[in-house]
Amino acid sequence: MSKKKDLEYEPKSAWEVYSSKKDIKAMDKMAASYVKFLSECKTERLVMDYVKKRVDKAGFVDDLTAPLAYRFNRNKTCFLARKGKRPLSEGFRLIGAHGDCPRLDLKQRPLYEDTDICLGKTHYYGGIRKYQWLTIPLALHGTVVKKSGEEVTICIGEDPKDPVFTITDLLPHLAYKEVVKKVADAFDAEKLNLVLGQSPVGKPKKDEDKAKEPVKRKVLEILNKRYGIDESDFFSAEMQAVPAGPARFVGLDESIIGGYGHDDRSSIFCGLEALLEETEPEYAQIVLFWDKEEIGSDGATGAKSYFFEYCMEELAEAWEPGARLSKIFMNGSALSADVSAAMDPDHKDVYEPLNAARLGYGPCFNKFTGHRGKVGANDAHPDYIGWLRRILDDAGIPWHMSELGKVDVGGGGTVAKFLAVYGMDVIDVGVPVLSMHSPFELASKVDIYACTLAFREFLKR
Ligand code: MN
Ligand code: MN
Repeated sequence: MSKKKDLEYEPKSAWEVYSSKKDIKAMDKMAASYVKFLSECKTERLVMDYVKKRVDKAGFVDDLTAPLAYRFNRNKTCFLARKGKRPLSEGFRLIGAHGDCPRLDLKQRPLYEDTDICLGKTHYYGGIRKYQWLTIPLALHGTVVKKSGEEVTICIGEDPKDPVFTITDLLPHLAYKEVVKKVADAFDAEKLNLVLGQSPVGKPKKDEDKAKEPVKRKVLEILNKRYGIDESDFFSAEMQAVPAGPARFVGLDESIIGGYGHDDRSSIFCGLEALLEETEPEYAQIVLFWDKEEIGSDGATGAKSYFFEYCMEELAEAWEPGARLSKIFMNGSALSADVSAAMDPDHKDVYEPLNAARLGYGPCFNKFTGHRGKVGANDAHPDYIGWLRRILDDAGIPWHMSELGKVDVGGGGTVAKFLAVYGMDVIDVGVPVLSMHSPFELASKVDIYACTLAFREFLKR
């Protein structure tokens, strides 16, 4: 018989759970390294570079027959695995997250000059609210592959000494007509053009070298001098404009971390930390970091690709020859690690408080995602949730259950359903985030801490 006070459920603040000096010290240490990670890893490629460095140091090798193994795919996606005590066919513990974030990609022919300003045309990637990306400092990151095959890495705007880029917006004095428009109509994607320069190239010695667009020519000359590239090299380039500068602590108590990319680099951080800490697992550990989640998980580096399956096939052949892949998959348990929307005090009307994620209550689990009548959802099974409740509660880790906003006001999906097709158990879990998909998202440092501990518990058991 339960104690009477246990009959009701009340969510527990993670701040109350982690109030000891020891926990606060560990939390602050983790928050500092998370801020550094988020500040450095502004693209999926930079995330992969970071992951590679960490797993190399931990003894993982690029060989799926090894007990500590990895495989990177085009430096945008990766598969990490550690052998467990039990054979693979008895199951595995998998954490999957995504390293791509909403941003503004440069078009393949981006440069033009207008009104003596050189601009760069963009095509937004993922779900953004366009007005949030105007009049803020932006950095340019990217990879250019020249015809010769030479790969050039570009990064401008992160070093405080670097210049930055920005998108202009209308002054209020001349916005009388614009302010009465609907938000959906007021911001035009073709007006998301980056300011790249304003001064013209000097007069050439020969008349035939005279530029039609002298400001654009100057920008091209600078790019050529610095990176050895020309305008046609943008055809084979992936250039991203992202919020410039480091992540920062927010609030007088420095309890919140503000920055670009909590969705879903927080899950990558927590998942990787957990994997590197839990070195003697009962079941095999598999950690997958995907690309392209924000645009539907398509493409060779997205969760809908066969990359995961190919890796599992090799792993099974090496670790347990003859084991059936279907049996391995069906016995798997997975966390689809992704952030969820925390209840925003200024926009409570779109949340349903009993089932809303809350900042400071540890990781939130979403039994299902989707929209309308749960359309497009993976719906986690109660026996799986029961097991997760037990291991987290036994370890004293704060967590809560949530769903994304009020029914019928919106919706969203994750990679959960692409894992569920294999028959494994899977549920969505991640830290609650405010201002999700904005250039400056907020997450609580206590949630980052609790989420990492939750992932560790999952990978250990
Ligand atoms: Mn996400
Ligand atoms: Mn997202």
